[in-house]
Amino acid sequence: KIKNRYVQLVFASDINEKVLLLRDLTQIKKYENLKKDFIANVSHELKTPVATLKVLMETLEDECDENETAKEFIKKAQDRIKYMEQLIQDLITLTMLETSKGILFENKSINLSNLLSRIVEETSVIAKRKNVTVVLDVPEKLEVKGDERLFYFIFKNLIDNAIKYNHEGGKVEIKYSTLPKEQVISVCDTGPGIPKSHLPFIFERFYRVDKSRSRKLGGTGLGLSIVKLAVEKLNGKVDVESEVGKGTCFKVYLPYT
Ligand code: ADP
Repeated sequence: KIKNRYVQLVFASDINEKVLLLRDLTQIKKYENLKKDFIANVSHELKTPVATLKVLMETLEDECDENETAKEFIKKAQDRIKYMEQLIQDLITLTMLETSKGILFENKSINLSNLLSRIVEETSVIAKRKNVTVVLDVPEKLEVKGDERLFYFIFKNLIDNAIKYNHEGGKVEIKYSTLPKEQVISVCDTGPGIPKSHLPFIFERFYRVDKSRSRKLGGTGLGLSIVKLAVEKLNGKVDVESEVGKGTCFKVYLPYT
């Protein structure tokens, strides 16, 4: 008789008693959805003014070729605008994955090696800047099934991070392996690693190990929560292994198609 209601059954027991708890979470869910809609709406509303600011700053930049102070301030403003653009985009992606409202995720065959090559190409500018070598070692015709956008969110964020948090002259390796029930794509880097005490929290929204470093590198703190949600949408899971001073490995486990 629990129609259109969101309920949770909790079972607890000790030596003497057994308790079955029925919790009605309908109202809580309703507020949660209102909150997510609100974030999605605000993010969409912010897109236009930020795009306008970007154009204005570009125009201003062209106008002040001799004024060093103005140039420096414009550069700072442009960095902030870039950060805002990324934050808005990440918030839109996150709410899209959380609510899946009006979104139809496809279940198509995708050549993952092609997609990974594209991402490596897209990230090559920052890799070159840091002199980081990216090695893509996956089968040429690696077919997976799902929505291409989900795979893109996962590997764009992981590869971006592996380069961003790496040392100068470091290495990133993207590898493929198989297990009896799953296939594994790992993204490993030779960066500073993540201390053990932080590992349980890094997939949480806005969690950063080093806040100021992440900000400086243009991070929004939302990348890994996007990765986790996208992997779950594909019925997979994501795991991390890290050693301070040696590097970090993110492993994405995906079911066979
Ligand atoms: P951000 O936008 O800050 O990079 P993420 O959600 O992508 O946010 O990552 C959360 C935090 O986890 C980062 O701020 C960083 O401290 C840490 N982190 C993520 N990937 C790596 C990595 N490959 N090596 C070291 N630290 C990492």
